[in-house]
Amino acid sequence: MARKFFVGGNFKMNGTISSIKEIVENLNKAQLDSSVETVIAPPALYLLLVREHAKKEIGVAAQNVYDKPNGAFTGEISVSQLKDSGINWVILGHSERRTILAESDQTVSSKTKFATENGISVIWCCGESLEQREAGKTLEVIASQLSALKAQISDWSKIVVAYEPIWAIGTGKVATTEQAQEVHASIREWLAKEVSQAVADETRILYGGSVSEKNCKDLSKEKDIDGFLVGGASLKPAFVDIINCKA
Ligand code: PEP
Repeated sequence: MARKFFVGGNFKMNGTISSIKEIVENLNKAQLDSSVETVIAPPALYLLLVREHAKKEIGVAAQNVYDKPNGAFTGEISVSQLKDSGINWVILGHSERRTILAESDQTVSSKTKFATENGISVIWCCGESLEQREAGKTLEVIASQLSALKAQISDWSKIVVAYEPIWAIGTGKVATTEQAQEVHASIREWLAKEVSQAVADETRILYGGSVSEKNCKDLSKEKDIDGFLVGGASLKPAFVDIINCKA
């Protein structure tokens, strides 16, 4: 089965009502490649606004969700609240949440399990720091993040993996096509060995880290790169060029 190319836009903690409406209008007006799945992730406060304004072909993702059904968890958002608002995706395991918000592999895996078991698809992020890359530990770090996920997940059909080297996020330093392809291929091999060949063949593996309209085309030609998770450039009109980079 061919893997549908996927482009996610992570707005992070950016935007206002008017700037986010403008981004959505721009995407609504654009001719987006229909063979690409596009999902945008605004800050929680604007999820409903975006869901109401974006054309239906565009999916909407939250940037976090909690791993309990409801209750006394001040500041958190539940899976059922996302579904109630028409939000079918969430980004989990982003390096900013792992490092700044101290989310452990265990927390990320537990949230991923709860979301996927309750009908929300997950853009699950992994990636190494510069120090880990320079120490030759990239594949080891990613395998250990994947192992923590495997310990809690049995159904991989609602997971899209995003490989995001931390040193490339928001830095303008994009991984070379060879660096990205090498890690993507090793993630696929890990899935084949540790989960199943079917999951390895079907799981989309996105690259994230300073993707722009300038570098997306070359990256998209690599055989194991099935799309992108885009931060900064998703706030700009050129996001449309990234979505359409295969066309
Ligand atoms: C991200 O936050 O997921 C990301 C990849 O950011 P940027 O594209 O800005 O590097």
